[in-house]
Amino acid sequence: MDRVFNFAAGPATIAESVLEKAQKELVVYQDKGMSVMEMSHRSAMYIDIYNETVALLKDLMKIPDNYKIMFLQGGATLQFSAVPMNLMGENGKADYVDSGNFAHLAAVEAQKYGQVNIVASSRDDNYTYVPDVDAIQWNQDAAYAYITTNNTIYGTRFPKIPETGNVPLIADMSSNILSEEYDVSKFGMIFAGAQKNIGPAGVCVVIVREDLLGKELPYTPKLMSWALQAKNDSMLNTPNTYGIYMAKLGFEWLRDLGGVAAINKINVEKAQILYDYIDESKLFKSPVKAECRSLMNVPFVTGDADKDAAFIKYCTKNGLVNIKGHRNVGGMRASIYNAMPVEGVKKLVEVMKAFEKENA
Ligand SMILES: *Cc1c(COP(=O)(O)O)cnc(C)c1O
Repeated sequence: MDRVFNFAAGPATIAESVLEKAQKELVVYQDKGMSVMEMSHRSAMYIDIYNETVALLKDLMKIPDNYKIMFLQGGATLQFSAVPMNLMGENGKADYVDSGNFAHLAAVEAQKYGQVNIVASSRDDNYTYVPDVDAIQWNQDAAYAYITTNNTIYGTRFPKIPETGNVPLIADMSSNILSEEYDVSKFGMIFAGAQKNIGPAGVCVVIVREDLLGKELPYTPKLMSWALQAKNDSMLNTPNTYGIYMAKLGFEWLRDLGGVAAINKINVEKAQILYDYIDESKLFKSPVKAECRSLMNVPFVTGDADKDAAFIKYCTKNGLVNIKGHRNVGGMRASIYNAMPVEGVKKLVEVMKAFEKENA
């Protein structure tokens, strides 16, 4: 069977050349005589893979030297707990922007460990926009300020990164890491589950400024301590060795393509093709405020559940899969992460046009 265009929100499409490289190296990795899956995580051959993976991410994101990079388990969701556990100790208070479902879950989790102030929220409007960051009153005595740069379910993105003064800014970048350039020095800590824009599920990238290490609450499980994990190169216990190797292949793919600035151009082009058609269409509408539209997740609706269902079927018939929207929004959602080629988006628009014509 041919490969389909997979618009899933996560786990999501992976570049075909990355999968082919993994296939080629599956049984015997380079001259090592064994699969990456069979290597001891303490072996020199695996440590080389790990160090290369870290170096590639550092280059791609231009991560300054005073940041630690880790590849941990437990997904982005474990960091919802790790963030307060590692940082709340300072004074037991944190600011959160409630801009989507994952932001909300993170704030609810953090309440177990301290006082959470929701400094802005778009929850009452079903998260159809990101609150204006310039209007936010940040608490200067907060241990940290928390945002979600791209809201996967609702298809919104922070058009601007807030200035939080001396309060470290923490960002969940799970669904848009490496899709556009961010100045890492503006953040105290960044985390991202790998299964959207990096590789397979099971790895979470954690980037922490060094001065924020070592403040964890005393009962923090050792696997969740950033200080301990950083000191041990993410290997307090056996890491997801194969997942990290797959991340390495993903990073190499992105580097060879020209890096983050280059992929961002392509991402802007892809999103533009889709939004332009949605804006022109009489059948499909975007539920999101224009200035907050995501480059990665594009929800759209017809306003009629039967038509939505018919369109989703029509897509599947045409080799476009996983286009059904999240239940909180309904309709459709096309996730067009880094690995989704422009051709996939063009094909989607063609199919939307044909469906609109047939259903006029
Ligand atoms: C997918 C996602 C998560 C959850 O990731 P897991 O790895 O499943 O825990 C958290 N935040 C955002 C923004 C996401 O897109």
